[in-house]
Amino acid sequence: MKYKLIKILLIFFVSVIIISGFLFLSKNTDRFLEIDFLDVGQGDAILVITPENQTMLIDGGPNNRVLQKLGKYLPMLEKRIDIVLLTHPHADHVAGLVEVLKRYNVGAVILSGVELKTEVYSEFLKITLEKNVPIIIAEAGQAIHFDENLEFDILAGVDGGEKVFNKNSEGFGVRGNDVNDASIVGKLIFSAKGGSASGGKDFSVIFMGDATSKIENQLLAYGENLESDILKAGHHGSKYSSSLLFLKFVSPKAAVIEVGAKNRYGHPTEATLSRLKMINANIFRTDQNGDIRVLSDGFTTNIYKEK
Ligand SMILES: [Zn+2]
Repeated sequence: MKYKLIKILLIFFVSVIIISGFLFLSKNTDRFLEIDFLDVGQGDAILVITPENQTMLIDGGPNNRVLQKLGKYLPMLEKRIDIVLLTHPHADHVAGLVEVLKRYNVGAVILSGVELKTEVYSEFLKITLEKNVPIIIAEAGQAIHFDENLEFDILAGVDGGEKVFNKNSEGFGVRGNDVNDASIVGKLIFSAKGGSASGGKDFSVIFMGDATSKIENQLLAYGENLESDILKAGHHGSKYSSSLLFLKFVSPKAAVIEVGAKNRYGHPTEATLSRLKMINANIFRTDQNGDIRVLSDGFTTNIYKEK
C-alpha cells in the first residue's frame, strides 16, 4: 500500500458543517482544537470540537455514560453532533451511541462497514435509518475536510470480503473480516494558520480504534506520514496492538489509552506499556486520569487530566 491520499471532498458534510460552525461561531472565543478522550469505562468515546465549533464523536463507549460527558463538554443546550464516527461495531464502541442518536441531531454517521450481527449494532443501525441520518462507509484515502486547516484522513478501514448492504434483516456490511481489524483508523491533522509558511509543524493525532499489529504493519507503508503528536493506542492497550516498530514510525509525544479500571481483559498490558515507555511517550489512561483533554492552537498543545 503506497501513501496516496485521495482527498475526496465529502460535499454533504462540508455544507452541514459550515452551517453548524457558523451558528456557533459566536460562542468560540479561544479558537482551539479540543479533543476530549472520555472516561466511559472499558470502551472508547472521543469528542472532537474544532476551532469553528464543528463536532465529531468517535465511538460512544459501552453504556450511557457518554451522555453525561457530552452534557458536560458540549455547549449548553447543544443538541447537534455533526459527525458520529463508529470505528467498528463492537459493543464497547457502539452501545453508548444508541441513546446519542436518539437524543442528538446527528449530521452524518461514518461506519467501517464491517458486518456484525448483534442486537446493539442492529439497534444502532435501525435508529440511524429511522432518523434518516446519512450513512457513509469509510474507505482508506478519503478525508473529511472540516476547514482548510483541519482534516481527518482515513488511513485504513474494512478490507475486501462479500459486500452486503441491504438495509434490512438480510444483513449490512462487508463479510469475512476480523471486526477489530476492520476498525477505521484515522489521522486528524491541524495546521495552525500560516503554520507551514512560518516554519511551524502540523499538530496531529492518530486514532487506532481496536486495530491490532496486523493493521499496524500494513500502515507502515505510509512511512513518515504516520508520525503523530498523539496516539490513541489501539485496542485499549492490548498486547496485540502498539507494536514497537509501529510506535517508532508514529513516534508520539503522548499516548492515550481508553480503558476501564480493573477490566476483565487485563488492559492495558504491561507489554504495551513498556513499549510505550521505550519510545518515551507520556502515557495517559482514562482509568487513572479520568477524562483527558487536549487543546491545541496548532503551535502549542496542552494535555489536561481530570485526575
Ligand atoms: Zn474496544
